[in-house]
Amino acid sequence: MVRAEMLRRVKAHEKVWDFIIIGGGATGVGCAVDAASRGFDVLLLEQNDFGKGTSSRSTKLVHGGVRYLAQGNVALVREALRERGILFENAAHLVKIQSFVVPCYNLWQNFFYGAGLKTYDLLSGRFSFGKSKILSKKATLKKLPNLKSENLRGSIVYFDGQFDDARLLINLATTAFEQGAIVLNYAKVFELTKNAQNKINGVKFRDSETNQEFCAKAKIVINAAGAFCDSVRKLSDADAARIISASQGIHLVFDKSFLPAESALMIPKTSDGRVLFAIPWQGKTLIGTTDTPIEKLELEPKALDEEIEFVLATAGNYLAKPPNRADILSVFAGIRPLVRKDKTKNTHALARDHTIEIDESNLLTITGGKWTTYRRMAEDAIDKAIAKGNLSEKSCVTKDLLIHGSGAGAKNFEDLEMYGSDAEKLQKLIDEIPYLDEKIHPALPYRLAEVVWAARFEMARSVEDVLARRTRMLFLDARAAIESAPQVAEIMARELGKDKDWVNAQIREFNTIAQNYFVKNSTADERG
Ligand SMILES: Cc1cc2nc3c(=O)[nH]c(=O)nc-3n(C[C@H](O)[C@H](O)[C@H](O)COP(=O)(O)OP(=O)(O)OC[C@H]3O[C@@H](n4cnc5c(N)ncnc54)[C@H](O)[C@@H]3O)c2cc1C
Repeated sequence: MVRAEMLRRVKAHEKVWDFIIIGGGATGVGCAVDAASRGFDVLLLEQNDFGKGTSSRSTKLVHGGVRYLAQGNVALVREALRERGILFENAAHLVKIQSFVVPCYNLWQNFFYGAGLKTYDLLSGRFSFGKSKILSKKATLKKLPNLKSENLRGSIVYFDGQFDDARLLINLATTAFEQGAIVLNYAKVFELTKNAQNKINGVKFRDSETNQEFCAKAKIVINAAGAFCDSVRKLSDADAARIISASQGIHLVFDKSFLPAESALMIPKTSDGRVLFAIPWQGKTLIGTTDTPIEKLELEPKALDEEIEFVLATAGNYLAKPPNRADILSVFAGIRPLVRKDKTKNTHALARDHTIEIDESNLLTITGGKWTTYRRMAEDAIDKAIAKGNLSEKSCVTKDLLIHGSGAGAKNFEDLEMYGSDAEKLQKLIDEIPYLDEKIHPALPYRLAEVVWAARFEMARSVEDVLARRTRMLFLDARAAIESAPQVAEIMARELGKDKDWVNAQIREFNTIAQNYFVKNSTADERG
């Protein structure tokens, strides 16, 4: 994927697009894959980078959602478990099976969680990731050596999926492109155009690299702007009532020593009724999340101090070596696009299933749902859009569509494994230019070749794109990411034909953004 080529094709496109999709997160990119693979003519526009919104800030679980089962939402769990299985088959290079330990402190918990997780197993049907089982106290501590042993009776182990959200997203964008879609980042939609009957017939967008404005016509416009979908709905109808009830969730990242084994910890009920996970992720420990109603929507949301304290305190209740502020390597926040179904202010009580709305002017908004169910959401949205736009009936094919990178195994390429079938090409790049084998930073496994790859083939346009989403350095260790910015900027400038001023501006901009990933008085902060 080359951005200049995408833009050239947009300019050369004289026909009316079948679909224009607004938003380059899981939902929008999923819709682009679905529509393009049915043979439609698709343009996707993302105002910033692919995944800049919530889709790079998840807990990285491909799951049915054990907590939704506790809420009695069996249909949602069954559907999500099915989607989990489909994604595992279509993106085998990115989705791995992860075991989760649910500690039990009395017999009643053993029974209650054991029965619940057996139901979870049953609901997964032919897409099972493995049967849950009851473990003794000794076996539990073997699985989770840092778990507090006091009063522990044993645990239940169950299985779910884990993935790298930003990498799956870029692989999905590539899949959409391979299926014929044009996907353009740094292209903000600022106006919806209408015909004489007041029906939407296109969009106006701005290329933020040149400030140039474009007009593109479409039979149907899809609003997949996530938590920001209300601002797009207001472009269609200035009086549209808000449908999003935004809720923020944060994650803290620590060294692997806080979870020194393969299993993850699942705390099913925290002091305020939430679920908390501690998960081994990319050589570190990821702990989260929270559920804090928020009013202000930002592309770069900030973790609140009370959220940080809540995660630290809850993890400290369960871990023998508790994490402290000083141990935090990075913190990131994301906004859930929860759909307001009633007047409740308690957003964690809202259902996670998706909503499709078609307004008077034919703007189709799809929002809510989960990363895990993006494919199903896209199928629903495109089915409805076909009917609304009088497009020719074509069936969805994504159940069996391999996602870019899947197929030939990449097991021989160790740290490049997540690139799937691209790993071999990255290795070839390294063989041709040996210095690209060097690590970007000694603290993390990423290599210089990945910077070149991201700039050449994955439409990375800024240092942040590379350090936050093509690699996950900013999410894993904010200090290491800051220290890497100058070298990454130099390499990108060479690849993108930029000058010294660009390099300096990029380093400055990255440092500003990276401040949001530091926690005051943490290791990362002190090293700074
Ligand atoms: C803390 C947290 C943890 C989560 N964990 C999980 C998990 O483990 N598993 C799971 O299945 N789900 C999880 N989810 C849910 C999941 O991440 C979201 O449902 C999903 O990422 C939403 O994707 P989206 O595409 O709808 O929104 P987004 O990813 O936010 O994408 C919307 C995009 O639209 C763009 N946009 C907005 N306005 C415009 C415009 N005018 N022009 C062009 N572009 C525009 C934005 O820049 C943004 O990139 C989690 C969510 C949160 C908050």
